[in-house]
Amino acid sequence: MSGVYLVMCQSCSYSQGFKFGVGNKFSNLNQAVCLVNANMRYQVQEIIRDNGLSETDFGYRAFHCPICNNLCDEFWVRIEQDSTSVFETEVYCSKCGNRMQSVLKPEDMKAFPCPDCYNVNLDLVRVMPWD
Ligand SMILES: [Zn+2]
Ligand SMILES: [Zn+2]
Repeated sequence: MSGVYLVMCQSCSYSQGFKFGVGNKFSNLNQAVCLVNANMRYQVQEIIRDNGLSETDFGYRAFHCPICNNLCDEFWVRIEQDSTSVFETEVYCSKCGNRMQSVLKPEDMKAFPCPDCYNVNLDLVRVMPWD
């Protein structure tokens, strides 16, 4: 299920590519840290240095804005530093500033309204696997 997906609206001309997961060449977060959004990369590198790579999860995901239905993708990282402290990538909507919710499975995109025309009529195809 990982790879690049093209999401298209069947009611209007909206179409956009979304990345999901990560290629096999990135087997741990240290190798993939270059994919982290530049404004969070230093923080992630520091957490890795202080905590190691034991409890990490990472990969591209789509994000959905529950307020304005904006969609985007972003490289997502989750690091459990200890039982009470977890770092997780937070994505804020470029249109309205609200915190966006991550979309784990590409198929889940179909349940969202189109960001342009708001009809629930999105379809998706995988256009490129990672490897
Ligand atoms: Zn549409
Ligand atoms: Zn929004």
